[in-house]
Amino acid sequence: MTSLASCIFCRIIKGEIPSFKLIETETTYSFLDIGPLARGHSLVIPKVHAEKLHELPDESLQDILLIAKKIALALGCENYNLLQNNGKIAHQEVGHVHFHVIPKPEASAKEG
Ligand code: 5GP
Ligand code: ZN
Repeated sequence: MTSLASCIFCRIIKGEIPSFKLIETETTYSFLDIGPLARGHSLVIPKVHAEKLHELPDESLQDILLIAKKIALALGCENYNLLQNNGKIAHQEVGHVHFHVIPKPEASAKEG
């Protein structure tokens, strides 16, 4: 379990670790992923620390989805994945709930 003080995403929200910020609201923070799977790969996180989706207050979830939608619109991509991992076995690396917005450029369809 990640503690609040050591949580890398809590530290990003506080500005202790630099990030390329996209949209910040009262309850959410979004920024570019440091290891993008595609150009514009973004992360949307709640400001409140929760490790997994089911630990998150309902209101935060709604806020996050609205921001994910805004980012998808701003990126102008018709094809993208909204991805969210919970737990190590499910490939969650950072123990603070986050949604990935991963654009799928048309070129990637040709690559397979
Ligand atoms: P997960 O596998 O937990 O769903 O994804 C964690 C994501 O966080 C990865 O895509 C990784 O590149 C990203 N990430 C990890 N540390 C940092 C960081 O310090 N800054 C940013 N911008 N992204 C990070
Ligand atoms: Zn955190």
